[in-house]
Order: sequence, then structure tokens, then C-alpha cells
Amino acid sequence: MAAFLAEAGASVVLYEREAIAAGASGRNSGVVQHPLDPELVALYEESLEYYRALGRGFALPEDPVGLLLVSEQPSPEPADFPELRPTRLEGAELRALEPALADGLSAWRLETGRPIPPAAAANAFALRAHEAGATLQVGQAAHAHVENRRATGVTIEGSHHPAGAVVLAAGPWTPVDFISPLWGVVIEYELPDAPRHVLEEAGIDALSSGEELSSVLFSAVTARGISAVGSSFTREEPDAGALAAEIVANAVRFLPALEGLRPRGRRVCARPSSQDGRPLLGLLPGVEGLAIASGHGAWGITLGPASARRVADQLLGRRVDIPPAVAAARIRS
Ligand SMILES: Cc1cc2nc3c(=O)[nH]c(=O)nc-3n(C[C@H](O)[C@H](O)[C@H](O)COP(=O)(O)OP(=O)(O)OC[C@H]3O[C@@H](n4cnc5c(N)ncnc54)[C@H](O)[C@@H]3O)c2cc1C
Repeated sequence: MAAFLAEAGASVVLYEREAIAAGASGRNSGVVQHPLDPELVALYEESLEYYRALGRGFALPEDPVGLLLVSEQPSPEPADFPELRPTRLEGAELRALEPALADGLSAWRLETGRPIPPAAAANAFALRAHEAGATLQVGQAAHAHVENRRATGVTIEGSHHPAGAVVLAAGPWTPVDFISPLWGVVIEYELPDAPRHVLEEAGIDALSSGEELSSVLFSAVTARGISAVGSSFTREEPDAGALAAEIVANAVRFLPALEGLRPRGRRVCARPSSQDGRPLLGLLPGVEGLAIASGHGAWGITLGPASARRVADQLLGRRVDIPPAVAAARIRS
């Protein structure tokens, strides 16, 4: 958003308390994929366009690698998106398509899934913002300052920094009750025969619905030779070591080559999970000049660019369509 605003001529300061991509935007599984929620499809498709044009070290795979929703028992067809050409596969046909998978599984294949390194999008957009003249102020926490129901700037270590408008975009730490952390752990491997598809355990596609999921569900995304195997869904910050063992024990049911394989690293981060599973975008009701861009849950990389564009356009006074299902106006500030 800092990039879009600065490119339009606004004077922008982005406050980041730790480092660019310090949160989930630097430690996610690394896939841009269809969100399987009709209310979010437009944001996804628009985001693809921004990613295609982004450059600055970011390369969106031209074609999707395909998503396999895998299960040990046949699972129902995922939500109705015929454009994703859902195809049911099992037995020899499934093994031929994805040899890394265990025997005896069944899957739905959907024509989506573009793997990218986890911090690639955040870093490229930060560079674009910097090039457009935005100031990236890293290393101090900022808090919106509101006076007489108007945002007047931010407070940093007790001192007031004035601004014409403030956007809350602090991921799971965004200070609204509607958003809370949903922690995840992902383990990195260099597999000898890495899966070509994005793999997800059937049922994980309910992520966008805001429903509670089991604490561990299998996923594997391979970008540039590194497979990110996950994942977990806990409200409390986990003991990552203990949870990693559980994630791997679950994952070997699907990818037997993981058994006994030494991981190369681990990513631990929190999804900004909203109460209804959809992001909160745009001006908050009741406080002038205070906007929000957060609550993207499991799909912040996938939806982030178009979300940012819309909030930026609203702040710039341009005509913009923020549908009620994702509008910040649906919560009380
Ligand atoms: C395990 C896991 C796997 C995921 N995989 C995918 C995936 O494959 N594809 C996908 O699309 N999405 C994925 N996601 C979701 C995605 O990563 C998030 O939705 C997205 O990164 C959230 O971005 P954000 O900018 O809102 O929050 P964050 O990336 O968390 O950024 C928030 C930033 O705000 C900073 N901050 C907090 N408070 C303050 C303050 N007071 N002042 C200044 N700075 C502050 C933090 O330091 C942090 O850097 C995954 C999430 C997890 C947890």
C-alpha cells in the first residue's frame, strides 16, 4: 500500500517495529492460489496482475503448478469453481501425476497454485515503495493516535508524529477485536524428488470460512527447490519443536520420503485471522482518517496487492469498489 500511495504522490511513512517481512509475510508456505471463496476471487485475480508486473526480484510462475487436495479416504468435490477444472484422481493415475505421494491416496486436482519464496512479495513491494519515495521506518512500534474521533497521526515512544490519515496493517497484532493470531509452523526440506504440485490435505480449503480447523493439517509447497511442509493452526504461540514433530508425523502419511529426513529450517508465524475468515479493508466507521488493511488469514500473500490497492484508492479519494464482505465498515471500531 505504501508503494501505491507514494506512486500517487502521497507523502508516506511505513512504520515496521522489527524488520520488513518479519511476520507471516516472510515465513509463510509460499503459494499464490485461488482462495476458493467467491467473495475473494476478484481480489485474487487482481493481485495476480500486480504480481505479474511487479519485477524487483519477484517472479510469478506464469502457469499454475496445480493444487492436489489429498486424502486417505475419497473426499467430496471442493467448492464449485469450474474454471479450476476439478479432476478426481487416485491409484496409479495419481502416482503417475505426482510420484512423491504415498500409495492409496485419492485427490482432487485444481488448476491453481503458483509457488514463490516466502518473503519475495513483501521485499519486492517494500523496494517499490522505497523507489516511489515512501520512508520505511524500521525498528520502532507505532500506534495510531486518535483525538475526538479523528486519527491525527501515530505515537512512537510517547511522541506524536502527525499524519493526515493512518492505516492499521499490523497483521495479527492489528488492534481490533475482530482479528486475532492463528499460529502456524512450516518445516523446510530439500527433498530428492520434490512434489511438483502444491499439496494440501482435503479440508484445509475450509480455511477461508473462518471455521476452526484441526490443529495440524498437511500441506507442502515447493519453490526453488525448497519444500515447505506444514502446517499447524493454534490460537496460542506454539512450542515449535514439539509441534514440528507432530506436523512431520502427519505429513509422512502423504509424503513418505520425509521419514527420517533432516529438515533445513523452520518457519513460525501467525496468520491475522478474522472472525469471518475474510480481510478487513478500508476506512473504519466512526473514526475519521483511520483505515485498515488486515485480517487476510491464510491468504495474505494471495490477496495482499489488490487489498492494498483498494485501500490506497479509498484514501486517495478515488472511486473504489470495496465489497461489503471485506469492508472494514462491517465491524464497529
Ligand atoms: C504458516 C503460514 C503459512 C501461510 N502460507 C500462505 C500462503 O502460502 N499463501 C498466502 O497467500 N498466505 C499464506 N499465509 C498467510 C499470510 O502469510 C498472511 O496472511 C500475511 O502474511 C499477513 O500479512 P500482514 O502484512 O497482514 O501481516 P504480517 O506479515 O504479520 O506483518 C505485520 C507486521 O506488522 C509489524 N507490527 C506489528 N505491530 C506493529 C506496530 N505496533 N508498529 C509497527 N509494526 C508493527 C510486525 O512486526 C509485522 O512485520 C500463511 C500464514 C501462515 C502463518
